[in-house]
Amino acid sequence: MFESLKKKLSGTVGKISDKLADEIPEETEEKIEAKEEASKTVPSEDTSEIPSEESSFTEETEEKPSEDEKTAEPEEKPSKKSGLMGFLRGKSSSEEDETVGGDMESQVSSEVEPTSGADSTSPEIIEEAEEKSGILSFVSHKTISEKDIDDILFELEMALLEGDVALEVAEKIVNSVKEDLVGRKIRRRSDVADFTKEALKNAISEILNVETPDINELLINSRETGEPLKLMFVGINGTGKTTTIAKVATHFIEKGYTPVIAAADTFRAGAIEQITHHADKIGVKIIKHQKGADPAAVAFDAVAHARAKGKELVLVDTAGRMQTNTNLMDEMKKIKRVIKPDMIIFVGDALTGNDAVEQAQKFDDAVGVNGIILTKADADAKGGAALSIGYVIQKPILFLGLGQSYEDIMEFKPEWMVEQIFGE
Ligand code: GDP
Ligand code: GDP
Repeated sequence: MFESLKKKLSGTVGKISDKLADEIPEETEEKIEAKEEASKTVPSEDTSEIPSEESSFTEETEEKPSEDEKTAEPEEKPSKKSGLMGFLRGKSSSEEDETVGGDMESQVSSEVEPTSGADSTSPEIIEEAEEKSGILSFVSHKTISEKDIDDILFELEMALLEGDVALEVAEKIVNSVKEDLVGRKIRRRSDVADFTKEALKNAISEILNVETPDINELLINSRETGEPLKLMFVGINGTGKTTTIAKVATHFIEKGYTPVIAAADTFRAGAIEQITHHADKIGVKIIKHQKGADPAAVAFDAVAHARAKGKELVLVDTAGRMQTNTNLMDEMKKIKRVIKPDMIIFVGDALTGNDAVEQAQKFDDAVGVNGIILTKADADAKGGAALSIGYVIQKPILFLGLGQSYEDIMEFKPEWMVEQIFGE
């Protein structure tokens, strides 16, 4: 799943690393190692007494570091080790390192003059630190510039578009990665890969993070109030809508609920038989009328049935019409008016990429969509629709269809997708 998307993103990490690695002199790497080696030789308990440059940063600055404050160790919390490292860096910055500059750092470096340490600071430690800083003061770093990454990010944007990622999503990824990386200071090759991967991961998490209603909670509520939860499924023919309704029913039967299905696609020949076939196979009651009957009446009857029988969930199939057909869209609006569904769920085929996104947009405009189910994700290498659809219409993906059997459905979680894309 999403193999091609995964490859594109890891390719970008590789390209940015390769490009910038050439600009970090080999000897710097060696010095870094020497620096780390040196810091290891200082007993850690004692170093805690040395004032930490990082901690004064985090206390005094805004949440998001300004360009000057992006350091090579963004995740490194003020720790015993970074206390010493910060101390060493602070000392070297005012002397050698032009790029580190800035009032804050020089102020910090003066604050951390050995004598300014707490009274209990052992003089030996300070001496040792000073000695190490002598070795380390010439360690340099590279600051990532826009020019360094522009070409590679442009390539990424093109690759994403080819992979059916919506334009606004591809742009958002590229811009947010750029914003994240430009100005960062890198001291070693592995920094570049780590930063780039982190920047991409953050961009994608942000895109996938759309506020999601909790269907499980809604169902608990239905059980308490006796008023069934009404889910109306919309989407065009052939995307897997009827199979998906049976999958959703199976999913909630496993959770102990009793669904009823409304065969409210009375328009297409064979639609009633098709959904009846699924309902019979999973043992769910189906409410149906004749072909050509008013779909809103079928849906209404299904709701009445659920109320009468104490069933918690009504799943309404609707005609798989083209989203451009106004008559049929009007009919859908009527169903909505009559049963007032708790959620309208758009079902789209992940393999159709941008088409699925466009369909979702049209259905959202016409009747208002509250959530999305993407089918055939099991066969989807591109991941373009999965990545884009929720962001574009600002509605959550609720489930993914992962195969042809009724059990092949999974609740969608953004962090799961991030793991699929960035995991090993
Ligand atoms: P509808 O016309 O939209 O109701 O589509 P169907 O429910 O009849 O599904 C069309 C085809 O897609 C069927 O062969 C399904 O088995 C298949 N299908 C549906 N969902 C999935 C899925 O998540 N993965 C795979 N691989 N096939 C699916
Ligand atoms: P079962 O006991 O779960 O198999 O359900 P029934 O077929 O006995 O129906 C239960 C209730 O739902 C009854 O009040 C029926 O009138 C109503 N019902 C079931 N199917 C339909 C239908 O297609 N149309 C209407 N109007 N009511 C229905």
